[in-house]
Amino acid sequence: MKVIQVSQHGDIDVLQLVEKNLPTPSPEELVIKIYAAGVNPVDTYIRAGTNNYTTTFPYTPGKDGAGIVEAVGESVSWFKPGDRVFCTQSITGCYADTAVCSQDHVYPLPDNLSFAQGACLGIPYGTAWLALHQRAAAIAGETMLIHGASGGVGLAAIELGNAHGLTVLGTASTELGTQSAYQQGADQMFNHNDQNHWQAIKGYTQNQGIDIILEMLANINLGQDLPLLTKGGRVIIIGSRGEVTINPRDLMARNADIRGLALANASLEERQAMYNNIVELAKDGKINPVVKHAFTLEEAGKAHQQVMTKGAAGNVVLIARPE
Ligand code: NAP
Repeated sequence: MKVIQVSQHGDIDVLQLVEKNLPTPSPEELVIKIYAAGVNPVDTYIRAGTNNYTTTFPYTPGKDGAGIVEAVGESVSWFKPGDRVFCTQSITGCYADTAVCSQDHVYPLPDNLSFAQGACLGIPYGTAWLALHQRAAAIAGETMLIHGASGGVGLAAIELGNAHGLTVLGTASTELGTQSAYQQGADQMFNHNDQNHWQAIKGYTQNQGIDIILEMLANINLGQDLPLLTKGGRVIIIGSRGEVTINPRDLMARNADIRGLALANASLEERQAMYNNIVELAKDGKINPVVKHAFTLEEAGKAHQQVMTKGAAGNVVLIARPE
């Protein structure tokens, strides 16, 4: 099988395309012919060894993938060869034309989604779902601001927010990202490069403030997010690339909370409950992932550069086989 292999931390040139033998799956595992793999910022942190990420070498990147089941172990009861599926974790890595996965992390891919879209369900939708339903405990009718709505997680959060009956505000830095967010159903967008955007958001809510903020870049925004909150408001930290100063009085005055989130902390039960819910939402047409940039396996390095480039407007994927 063709896989991207990484043998040491480093820049994009450590992403090497190699041929490998398919490992023999154990009884609870499936072999999946991968058509598309999701590319997420965390893949670049693991490759580069930044943000305290470590791994064992050599490895093949990619937790998120979608394709067709090729073979199943004797204890696999939920899937059969030929099924369209997506996976949210892989034993051998999804930057490949074939991957081995435990059946615990494989879900049916609804017919109305392409493989490329299926490869965007794991990290982006899982993170957005946990932020909204678990960490923020969002209630229908609340107002949510997605600070960074144009990327994979942000666009997913718009759809999940709409499905849950929230008013959804968002930010982006480009016209393209803003348009993607409106197409996914954002009620109102702002530009996070404009230093007055917090004021504009406050004005939009007629000084009522925001119930929930999903924050993609806390080191830049958190200090100014807090005065935007209503009483009982919550900021969910999804992304941060450094330190930040806040005024704790902004929290005291509002009985407000700052809550962290790492998708990796979700238990198997939590994951299965949320991805099954995501599958149902997709079947109902409430989820339609935006694939903005598609690269071949050989271009994995370019895909890593793309996912870290400002001006997001959707997800980045690798196409391992034509659909
Ligand atoms: P992405 O597709 O690269 O999108 C990045 C988003 O951040 C874009 O919407 C971008 O907007 C926005 N952004 C850039 N500068 C910003 C600013 N000053 N203020 C607010 N937003 C800004 O990444 P993603 O997959 O959506 O992930 C977003 C972040 O969450 C990343 O840092 C990622 O590592 C992290 N993450 C964390 C978890 C977790 O478990 N906690 C899981 C998944 C992702 P423009 O490009 O339009 O400027």
